Amino acid sequence: MRPARALIDLQALRHNYQLARELSGVRALAVIKADAYGHGAVRCAQALEGEADGFAVACIEEALELRAAGIRASVLLLEGFFEADELALIIEHDFWCVVHSLWQLEAIEKATLAKPLTVWLKLDSGMHRVGLHPKDYQAAHQRLLASGKVAKVVLMSHFARADELDCVRSDEQVAVFQAAREGLAAEVSLRNSPAVLGWPSIPSDWVRPGIMLYGATPFEENNPVAARLQPVMTLESKVICVRELPAGEPVGYGAKFVTTRPMRIGVVAMGYADGYPRQAPTGTPVLVAGQRSQLLGRVSMDMLCIDLTDVPQAGLGSTVELWGKNILASDVAMAADTIPYQIFCNLRRVPRLYSEG
Ligand SMILES: *Cc1c(COP(=O)(O)O)cnc(C)c1O
Repeated sequence: MRPARALIDLQALRHNYQLARELSGVRALAVIKADAYGHGAVRCAQALEGEADGFAVACIEEALELRAAGIRASVLLLEGFFEADELALIIEHDFWCVVHSLWQLEAIEKATLAKPLTVWLKLDSGMHRVGLHPKDYQAAHQRLLASGKVAKVVLMSHFARADELDCVRSDEQVAVFQAAREGLAAEVSLRNSPAVLGWPSIPSDWVRPGIMLYGATPFEENNPVAARLQPVMTLESKVICVRELPAGEPVGYGAKFVTTRPMRIGVVAMGYADGYPRQAPTGTPVLVAGQRSQLLGRVSMDMLCIDLTDVPQAGLGSTVELWGKNILASDVAMAADTIPYQIFCNLRRVPRLYSEG
């Protein structure tokens, strides 16, 4: 069998969830959209179900997958419904529903619902993606209550720059939010992972941690709180071929790397078809036979090359960690000019093996 695989440590997932709870001191919706950022939504939900206050996913398709797997916990649809006819299913399965636009509010007013809805009413406090305009927020809240179709409203917003700890934008967004919700007695949800880790004073009755659950930092700089996270996914494979080359020989497509001295090269069964980023350049860290080394040349579809010159104990069959507990996914992401969110979500073809740590 091809040795590429992703090991998922469910104990680390629970540790990170508990850290989100401990840091915030409030209820936490575990964000498991996009197949739990590539970690497997059903398995992650099952691992957290005993302790999580609820889950958040992007859309009803993702939420139904959880119900089909027997998950009974609360599930929030972060984008609400895309078409009004989803409302019947939302009610049937007790999903919680974000309302981010006036057309959704109107659809709820017009709908015939078997039971009242739980709505998370989203304000655009400055990110300018989705969310109601501050001038419409109070009226929307009033209309939801007056519709008779809503049992509970939670007030929410989302930060654009909470990962930048020296940036004033998050405080400005909080001020916009506080002004818009003035006088509304309701629970509030503002904080995503960077805000849980880095903005302890921002109020939130509910936090919505995503990336931190998977043990990756949302920050570019080292952060002592983020250092308490435990990486959940280890992407590993093995050396399937070793070659010795003299100085001056090109390695891989496009000859993007040329040996600078006599070198030992290991070929690893891992490529961009597995989700390893093709943009990762020579020098991107890897761990082989327990020692740090580096990627050499271009990543191809099914294989990549690494430097074994100074790792004499490594050879055919040696285990290679592409990211995990030793090589941080965020470091690989930074080398490839992307973010850990994306490299996790891109994971494909590789079997996921689950363990309790
Ligand atoms: C994805 C998402 C989150 C989680 O964000 P992280 O940065 O991964 O913690 C929280 N809230 C909303 C609305 C989201 O879309």
